[in-house]
Amino acid sequence: MKTLQAVRGMHDILPSDISAWQWLEKLLARHFDAYGYEEIRTPLLEKTELFTKAVGQTTDVVEKEMYALQDRNGESLCLRPEGTAGVVRSVLQHGLLNPPGLKTWYRGPMFRYERPQKGRQRQFYQVGAEVFGLADPVADAELIALVTRVWRALEIDRHVELEINSLGDRPDRDQYRAALQAYLRPRHDELDADSQRRLETNPLRIFDSKSQSTQAIMADAPRLADYLNAEAREHFERVCVLLDKLGIAYRINPGLVRGLDYYGRTVFEWKTELLGAQGTICAGGRYDDLVEMQGGRSTPGIGFALGMERLLELVMTTGRTFECPPQVYLISTLRNGESLLLAEQLRDQQPELRLIVDLQGGSLKSQFKRADRSGADWALVLAEQELTSGSVTVKHLRGEIEQQSISREKLAEWLEQQLAG
Ligand code: ATP
Ligand code: MG
Repeated sequence: MKTLQAVRGMHDILPSDISAWQWLEKLLARHFDAYGYEEIRTPLLEKTELFTKAVGQTTDVVEKEMYALQDRNGESLCLRPEGTAGVVRSVLQHGLLNPPGLKTWYRGPMFRYERPQKGRQRQFYQVGAEVFGLADPVADAELIALVTRVWRALEIDRHVELEINSLGDRPDRDQYRAALQAYLRPRHDELDADSQRRLETNPLRIFDSKSQSTQAIMADAPRLADYLNAEAREHFERVCVLLDKLGIAYRINPGLVRGLDYYGRTVFEWKTELLGAQGTICAGGRYDDLVEMQGGRSTPGIGFALGMERLLELVMTTGRTFECPPQVYLISTLRNGESLLLAEQLRDQQPELRLIVDLQGGSLKSQFKRADRSGADWALVLAEQELTSGSVTVKHLRGEIEQQSISREKLAEWLEQQLAG
């Protein structure tokens, strides 16, 4: 019988990869904690209308990529394609927006029906943050500083570039959209098919077109920057001044528009050259209208999301390894539970000890082979002879140190010393 395969575009994270994931998750959690962010966990399933309203009808995510399904009672539900809409729903539902200044972060799988390829999966993991009630550019700058610190801790700061832009406020974008359409309509036939369609629905997204001829046309298009109102412009200038002050390098990209409708004013992305076509590892921006759009009192918001798979791949290309082998491997020819008892005694005294008991048994030779393969530094041997003399034979698996006999009472302390050294 043929065994079943996972759904296309959905990946298992195997035990051999999990050390890297856990290490990265811990590092991110530590950084959020240090900046005063609290984790929030929202359901993977939400009502479909949450995303059509928040993310926007004419965005790629809603138009083409949603995993929508019918509940048994006919309700249309959706596997979340992104985290922000659900977090906003949750903080409104639970009345968390007062007093202002709530800082949250989240982690977990997101689902998008995209064409699977390198850097693009149908289930992928994001870690993200959302901050509410802070309109001042210092909030934008602190968020960017946090992410920058993460890149430094991961030692990938040399490989990523920060791009920023301002999308202004809604009236600015409405005016700009009209100007952009007026510029593009006479050039309609020179645009790629996707952009022709976007021209009437979501013309700003044409900046994301990969077509060279479309890009050439966009290079001469009117600039959103020229349509910003004075306040939005000042906000953006202050963000830039703050980043300069913090020594954070960035490039202003006037064509950076982001794919979700709720963004306004500051938007940003970190990109790398090392991952090929899917080089954006983290993206975000302000969404000062979103809370109100979802029925709450007008409350500014800002956030970002990073793609865990892409980020991990980037970290790996810099040569980091994440193996976490056992420290000790316990071998025994006895089958009377004595080796389990010894292991439990050691764990009582050293709860953090990474200790593997050989449960397969067999000859000492085959057990030593497995001990070696496990990557452990030390092998402990407990056989009839050791049992009688109240000792354990210890053998260093990675060096020239002589095998020796240690008494059971002294073993835990002795191991602690060896492993500390
Ligand atoms: P892209 O430009 O790659 O389509 P996006 O604008 O759709 O990205 P966001 O919605 O901003 O992406 O999501 C934030 C991050 O999540 C991205 O920068 C990326 O690292 C990651 N990401 C998005 N979609 C996928 C996917 N299908 N597979 C893996 N990672 C993804
Ligand atoms: Mg996308």
